Amino acid sequence: MITAYIGLGSNLDEPLAQVKTALDELGELPLSHKIGQSSCYRSDPQGPPGQPDYINAVACLQTELPAHDLLDALQSLEQQHQRVRIEHWGPRTLDLDLLLYGDHIIDTERLQVPHPWLAQRSFVLYPLAEIAPNLVLPSGQALTSLLTLCDAAGLDRLPTNQ
Ligand code: ATP
Ligand code: MG
Ligand code: MG
Repeated sequence: MITAYIGLGSNLDEPLAQVKTALDELGELPLSHKIGQSSCYRSDPQGPPGQPDYINAVACLQTELPAHDLLDALQSLEQQHQRVRIEHWGPRTLDLDLLLYGDHIIDTERLQVPHPWLAQRSFVLYPLAEIAPNLVLPSGQALTSLLTLCDAAGLDRLPTNQ
């Protein structure tokens, strides 16, 4: 059994509903149990200008799925949410990124884990810290030390009743 962390993001077609539905769907993946989920956050868009704000969250799964099978499952959930890839980092109904897969380091054409931008993204690090405050990355870096280097400007945690 591996502990995996998934980053969720949406900025199209009712992003908060997209993320909340996806959090439930992650709980139904085969050979997996969802054991944690962060609050939802609003973040300023990155990438091409003029996009709507994002809603982000992070979920924690215990899974027996091999990493590439988990990626397949995440991509088919993205497809279920009618995700269309138009431009890189452009607006999307649902983005599901595999942030961490135990302490594995994976570098294949389809899959890089830990997720390459994990340490630079406030919309990943802050929700991750909410559910795994003592996490240490495969590199040996503590999440707490990454947080001190990552500005939370442009990131708001939404009230849990929203
Ligand atoms: P970013 O990677 O900067 O967050 P993105 O999530 O918008 O960008 P996508 O269009 O969702 O990028 O994915 C592009 C490709 O990234 C996918 O086809 C997938 O094979 C690959 N990929 C590599 N590593 C990962 C990972 N850890 N999680 C999800 N996809 C990954
Ligand atoms: Mg992404
Ligand atoms: Mg992605």
